[in-house]
Amino acid sequence: MSIKHLDKIVSLCKRKGFVFPNSEIYGGLKASYDYGPLGVELKKAISEKWWKAMMNNSNIVGLDSSIMVHPDVWEASGHIANFNDPLTDNKDSKKRYRIDDLLSQQKSKVIDALCEILSIENKNDNNTLDKISHTLLQESDKYSNALESAGVIDPFSGNIGKWTPATQFNLMFQTNSGPSEKSGKSIYLRPETAQGIYINYLLVQNSMRLKVPFGIAQIGKAFRNEIIARNFIFRTREFEQMEMQYFVHPSEDESSMEHWKDKRISFYSEELGIRKDNLKFHQHSEDALAHYAKDAFDIEYNFPFGWGEVEGIHNRTDFDLKEHEKLSGKNMMYFDALKNEKYHPFIIETSTGLNRLFLMVLCESYYEDNENNRTVLKLPFDLAPNKIVICPLLKKDGLPEKAKEIYDSINATHKCVYDQQGSIGKRYYRQDEAGTPFGITIDHETLEDNSITIRERDSMEQHRIPVDNILKFILENK
Ligand code: ATP
Repeated sequence: MSIKHLDKIVSLCKRKGFVFPNSEIYGGLKASYDYGPLGVELKKAISEKWWKAMMNNSNIVGLDSSIMVHPDVWEASGHIANFNDPLTDNKDSKKRYRIDDLLSQQKSKVIDALCEILSIENKNDNNTLDKISHTLLQESDKYSNALESAGVIDPFSGNIGKWTPATQFNLMFQTNSGPSEKSGKSIYLRPETAQGIYINYLLVQNSMRLKVPFGIAQIGKAFRNEIIARNFIFRTREFEQMEMQYFVHPSEDESSMEHWKDKRISFYSEELGIRKDNLKFHQHSEDALAHYAKDAFDIEYNFPFGWGEVEGIHNRTDFDLKEHEKLSGKNMMYFDALKNEKYHPFIIETSTGLNRLFLMVLCESYYEDNENNRTVLKLPFDLAPNKIVICPLLKKDGLPEKAKEIYDSINATHKCVYDQQGSIGKRYYRQDEAGTPFGITIDHETLEDNSITIRERDSMEQHRIPVDNILKFILENK
């Protein structure tokens, strides 16, 4: 799949009611999207799969914490000091770039030159770009001209640019709470849902009488003032995270990390139908680790624009709990009554973005069937927003009435769509593009012997079966 497929997916999303550009009547708000009628269903189906996969574990429970929390939470978590992206401005075009993103658009000879200037070993991977950005930031005085000397091109103008020294940009959105801006500290929109879990973990543990190891799962909005938001819904400033924080004994952090790596990568192939060769792990190098992490792996998907992170699995150690303890003055230790042992649990985090999974599922399902001149979204049955399109052959002779009767009998358990406009072929093709797995046609024979034609989306095969067997057929063939 190439980048041109992404444009086709974007256009399909708008045409079929999956995703719309936000505020379109006012010219749009960059990198902001709304989910249409089919989009909300698909998003809900993905999040339900995730939620179920988590809740199937008897020692994992749910939480729904606030988006806005006490400002000290972000002080303790280190987000005020450390949640920064290194950036640079082009002095001519005035365009601003995240440095790792700018570097990912450069030819290898430019990266080679930068590595030589900064004395970094070039391993030709994401870690090399992370190391370059961090070195440029940490030693910005010494290397203020490095980008120019290495010949870094401004993607906007196509010319070798003059660049400002690397600086930091905090990604948190700041706002005020209450009527007076002057009262109290600034409030931030949460950049991750995780902290809401940490500050509640003892309340959850006590109320549910949980014993380590246990997990707390949460789905909710997060906000990051990304310098560059692009690739459709891959990177936006408002997005939804699905995070599960797993609290373990400090001696079990590494084995737990392995356990969750296996579980999480299997989730994608088993529950979302993603081909295994479109998934891989990427381990962060030590220099590129977040301020809280001891070890970190990304699960990456092979998007039309290249490999991109869909989930982070992090060993966050006891960093967050200890920092909250220091700043709040409240004891954040877990007490193991059986062993009479008090400790700060280590936290293994699995953190994924619902919107990225949505895009991944669309990319994986998008198929151009050139032989039959149609576009198909080969969505897994469980994820498809509509499961069956119900079509009376004609708009007369009692066929619509019979079709509506069948619609009503199935729709309660399997979401149906009713369509009586245009030729049957056109009606099926419309639904192929929306990912509807089955089509049913009601014709004159139906009125005589109560049989219908059922068609499968991917194979386009058609079968004549009794109305009473529709659900059985679907369950056996989905
Ligand atoms: P990236 O390197 O792509 O900026 P990250 O390493 O900062 O991501 P994490 O902090 O690990 O991401 O967040 C966990 C997950 O949240 C990511 O794997 C991704 O699925 C999702 N996510 C993070 N930032 C965004 C965003 N701006 N838009 C959509 N999803 C996001």
